[in-house]
Amino acid sequence: MTIRGETGRFGPFGGQYVAEVLMPVLGELEEAFAAAAEDNGFWDEYHRILREYVGRPNPLTFAANLTRLVGGCEIYLKREDLNHTGAHKINNTIGQVLLATRMGKRRVIAETGAGQHGVATATAAALFGCECAVFMGEEDVRRQAPNVERMRLLGAEVIPVTSGSRTLKDAMNEAMRHWVSHVENTFYVIGSAAGPHPYPVMVREFQRVIGDEIKAQSIERFGKFPDCVLACIGGGSNAIGAFASFLDDDVKLVAVEASGEGIETGRHAAAIAGGQVGVLHGQKSYLLQDANGQVLEAHSISAGLDYPGVGPQIAELARTGRIEVLTATDDDALKGFHLLTRTEGIIPALESSHALARAVDVAKTLPKEAKLVVNLSGRGDKDLATVLAFEMRGGEA
Ligand SMILES: *Cc1c(COP(=O)(O)O)cnc(C)c1O
Repeated sequence: MTIRGETGRFGPFGGQYVAEVLMPVLGELEEAFAAAAEDNGFWDEYHRILREYVGRPNPLTFAANLTRLVGGCEIYLKREDLNHTGAHKINNTIGQVLLATRMGKRRVIAETGAGQHGVATATAAALFGCECAVFMGEEDVRRQAPNVERMRLLGAEVIPVTSGSRTLKDAMNEAMRHWVSHVENTFYVIGSAAGPHPYPVMVREFQRVIGDEIKAQSIERFGKFPDCVLACIGGGSNAIGAFASFLDDDVKLVAVEASGEGIETGRHAAAIAGGQVGVLHGQKSYLLQDANGQVLEAHSISAGLDYPGVGPQIAELARTGRIEVLTATDDDALKGFHLLTRTEGIIPALESSHALARAVDVAKTLPKEAKLVVNLSGRGDKDLATVLAFEMRGGEA
């Protein structure tokens, strides 16, 4: 582990674009994480919890029916959907809340849009006996009532944010402001591989377990690395987690952004394909903004891809061409959702359905014997109402 060598800069991206008062706080966090990362005891405890509580390692499933139907290369699924709470987000919140307790902080805060990161943080807080407050735009509190209820059941306080558009970006600003004034006892748990340094590095290290497992499972099963790994990107945490172990290997890496109703409509969440370089959430990266640099709201059928930016390392990997970036629309995602459900009996999250939609195309371009791994970032039970509502409105499936 070489965390101390990390500058938090990925080419022109990353950095610490925060108020001056937060600089010492980020410095303290950087030091605490670096020390934890060098301590085998910390990782032993983290992996013990992932094993006993989260249910790792989760399997690499051969999607035999889907492979036959598509007629391209062999398609495998990395089953993050089988984790406790149903997605990859728990890997990160367990890591960050474990670090918080090591730092002596017994209170954690988080920002959340659709509520999934809020639920994952509240879950880890309950496990570690920490106090938990989750900032959520008032509009999102209204739209995401079941997740608000889950967080409250888990003992978290949900704080509605009434500024701006009352959605995710306002909740992020508010969480950052709150952190500044409560830093002695409070740890800020960020939900993706985004935000000011050291968060993008730290979240990558907590999600790296996905790619490490894919690598070990591939070697065991195929006697070699997979030929291609494919993941969806919101902020980029499940993607960088799946990719991190393969960056120096001869493995094709493909990320899929949500292009919503189409990039040309302006209603999308494709920060790389349809955004510009700017500053948000304490980092420089690609993001959705208007001509005045105001951050725009992202649009996607999947709440988890509704982040207006993208993490700085994913941005740099895209800029330098190490990863290929594709897009999938809402309609594409619905097709992927139904396809996997009907062929394999696995209901995928709408986020992961974006990856599945493009995996079908990529599989056709690879030789029959090639192995393509799709990171199935979450399960789709949470999305049934959204799918139904979309199809009733006449969206095609
Ligand atoms: C939140 C979420 C995502 C998107 O977040 P990343 O940080 O880009 O991984 C993808 N899939 C699921 C199931 C999610 O809950």
